[in-house]
Amino acid sequence: MGGDKVRAENSVRAEVVYVGFGVHAPELGYSDYDGVDVDGKIVAMFGNSPGSFPHNERAFYASSRSKAEEAITRGAVGAIRLMSKRIEEYYPWERIKREAGTRPGMAWVTITGEAADYYPELQGGALISVDVARELFAGTPITFDEAREATAESRPASTPLGFEVTLARKSKHEVITSPNVIGIVRGTDPELADEYIVYSAHLDHNGIGAPVDGDDVYNGAYDNAMGSSLLIETARVFAASPPRRSVLFIALTAEERGLLGSDYFAHYPTVPTESMVANVNLDMPLFLFPLADIIAFGSEHSSLEATVEAAINAEGFALTPDPMPEENIFIRSDQYSFVRKGVPATFLVPGYASTDPDVDGEAVVKDFRKQHYHQPSDDLSRPVDWDSAVRFTRANARIGYAIANEDARPTWNEGDFFGEKFAK
Ligand SMILES: [Zn+2]
Repeated sequence: MGGDKVRAENSVRAEVVYVGFGVHAPELGYSDYDGVDVDGKIVAMFGNSPGSFPHNERAFYASSRSKAEEAITRGAVGAIRLMSKRIEEYYPWERIKREAGTRPGMAWVTITGEAADYYPELQGGALISVDVARELFAGTPITFDEAREATAESRPASTPLGFEVTLARKSKHEVITSPNVIGIVRGTDPELADEYIVYSAHLDHNGIGAPVDGDDVYNGAYDNAMGSSLLIETARVFAASPPRRSVLFIALTAEERGLLGSDYFAHYPTVPTESMVANVNLDMPLFLFPLADIIAFGSEHSSLEATVEAAINAEGFALTPDPMPEENIFIRSDQYSFVRKGVPATFLVPGYASTDPDVDGEAVVKDFRKQHYHQPSDDLSRPVDWDSAVRFTRANARIGYAIANEDARPTWNEGDFFGEKFAK
């Protein structure tokens, strides 16, 4: 696991308590902390959150920020991350070992010089392999496979494991800078020009890393040169024909290191937070085959849903609900930094359906995620269906125009989970 963001050296020895997902959600009648005391202990937990949760709640509780805050509130001093079956499938231990230490962890630095999202209470962290986990859990009240089974069934099975471990690490630190790049198209309506639609796309990828088949350049052609080029093209269109409200185009840095550029911007925006009426994010749109449908993450939380659907339909696409809620994609790209500041957001990605009946879109996308996502082979040798790319780009631009020209600004749905949590 990554180093400590501030301390050069730390170590902690404590008893280990297994806490399932590490989720406490009393409003959903679920807690991994009922009946266990983790004060002064090291917690061992899986990633993600219970599959029985409604989609949005699941995404919220799956974030490592939610988990760290919960563990700290309860006095935990360290955290061990366990591997679910899904993680084991996507990130075999061999790959984790190969990539370990090849990329630094990063935090952005506040105006007062502190590391953001730093939890000094957690003195140690570790990710352990399935083999090691099986050994550690042997002879405890629960076997590793029983624990994993319980989480797969959304069943809390927390228990002290009855042994102690020492978590120790040494970390080296370096200060670097990497800017967000922002462009602006001024709105034409004096009444509305001080309100902004924000288009965003991350400009970073993973740089030079562990070689795969002798290639160590992580190109990020789809993730996210494709999104960045769509951002530039969208800006070109808006510059030529400005709408009533103003439009910001932000090329965000360090998304791959934990949404750092967008989180920084959300904390230190160049325009007042209340003046940002919506965020439209672009991240890794896959045009691997002729597209028939689009998923609009996050639009169902606000009045953006109708706007988005009209824009998509106008380009001949159908709107499809999220086919892979277990991936929690809504919280995993830059739109979530805006949502956390109360700004309604949407993030469009192509769905699985194809206009070509011979294409199994789901298989093609899943193969990309397994073979090429975050690998050197996400490069120009990947196929691109340019006609789909054009229509997708137009659909995104239509969304911006519709929001920017409408009299009223977008609103969160009455009682919406994210609206209630962040927009109040
Ligand atoms: Zn990305």
